[in-house]
Amino acid sequence: MNFDSEHLWHPYAALRNTPARFLAKKAHGTTIETADGLKLIDAVSSWWCMAHGHNAPEIVEAIQKQSEKMCHVMFGGFTHEPAIELGKHLVKFLPEGLNRIFYADSGSIAVECAAKMAVQYQHSLGHAERCKLVALKGGYHGDTAGAMALSDPDGMHVLFRGIMPQHFFAERPNCRFGAPWDDNDVASMERVVEEHGSEIAAVICEPVFQGGNGMWLYNAGYLKRLRKLCDEKGILLILDEIASGFYRTGPRFAMMHAGIKPDILCIGKALTGGSITMAACVASENVAETITNSKIPAFMHGPTYMANPLACAAGIASLTLFENRDYAGEVARIEKRLRANLEPLCNLENAADVRVLGAIGVLELKAKPSADDILRVIRETGVWLRPFCNYVYTMPPFITTDTEIDRICEAIKMIGKCEPAPIVDDEDEFHE
Ligand SMILES: *Cc1c(COP(=O)(O)O)cnc(C)c1O
Repeated sequence: MNFDSEHLWHPYAALRNTPARFLAKKAHGTTIETADGLKLIDAVSSWWCMAHGHNAPEIVEAIQKQSEKMCHVMFGGFTHEPAIELGKHLVKFLPEGLNRIFYADSGSIAVECAAKMAVQYQHSLGHAERCKLVALKGGYHGDTAGAMALSDPDGMHVLFRGIMPQHFFAERPNCRFGAPWDDNDVASMERVVEEHGSEIAAVICEPVFQGGNGMWLYNAGYLKRLRKLCDEKGILLILDEIASGFYRTGPRFAMMHAGIKPDILCIGKALTGGSITMAACVASENVAETITNSKIPAFMHGPTYMANPLACAAGIASLTLFENRDYAGEVARIEKRLRANLEPLCNLENAADVRVLGAIGVLELKAKPSADDILRVIRETGVWLRPFCNYVYTMPPFITTDTEIDRICEAIKMIGKCEPAPIVDDEDEFHE
């Protein structure tokens, strides 16, 4: 542990003097075991990817089998069974028409690819001037430069403005999920498109659920209006379903709440069931064919580990679980339980808001509790939570039982009841 704090960077943290870390030993199902004997329910699915729980035997076996044959081969000049097989599963699993797949090695890279693809599509149509994107305030699309530039402009990446490409931003949709739709909500986006339309290649957003920069759930009506607006103006729509895909918000993909489809889709996180890093940027036939039939048909992106066979094998096993299990049913069950437990918490003195959709439960606080209090609650309850800013939330694996959901919600409630931490003017720990 001393070596760790001397030499290893951790996500969104200072090298030293950060709150204590747990030494994870092994994990199975919903539970992570630590070296000092704690058994913690992973209420954040290890940053939203562990959909089937830790070490699902089907996925472990698939990785083992593939590793005996071939761990990796370059995807330039070669193809292989795992890549082809995963592609077939995806084409069946994704909404019809989204079927031209670029494998990326992380979510951020999938977003970079989507932005490049949109610009290249416009270029193919003779619109070289359409080289900017519109994103939503309060959004999160990743930590690489291109993805940072599309994330909330006042969020965690402010320090790096100097190396970011400049895009346009529209106001965050205010109309809540499930509330009556209000047409005024799309006015800011309409204004941006009206003013800058001829420079815009695409709009990018996280459908319905804005995760890493505010855990916000907005009205599906917004997406219907956005789809129409993009079609009218020759602008592509990129949906980032890296967090919301694979049943997290209820249906298979969050876009299904609105009954719309994007021109380019980003998926990741739960794609391999949390076992190995892997993401994908999926283009519609129209986008892919337009690029392919143009003067510059090649798409200039190619990660070293593109379509890594181990990751593809894990993806196939994960997709097979998604196909065979009734996760829509499980998520409906989890949603009901989260609502029953969390909605009463809006009466806590420190509560600002409670939001629940699918297997997402958020308690927004007026003031955030101290890191020490959060650690104490984790140890006392055996529930692993990772609040950020004022958001205490859970996004549990879909195999989490009702009893475990109750325990998770009890831990959230205990954090909600803690004394707010004194306000100090330090570098805010702002992480996903
Ligand atoms: C996590 C996330 C990303 C980035 O994915 P990484 O694999 O961490 O690079 C992008 N978009 C959304 C919506 C995410 O939740």
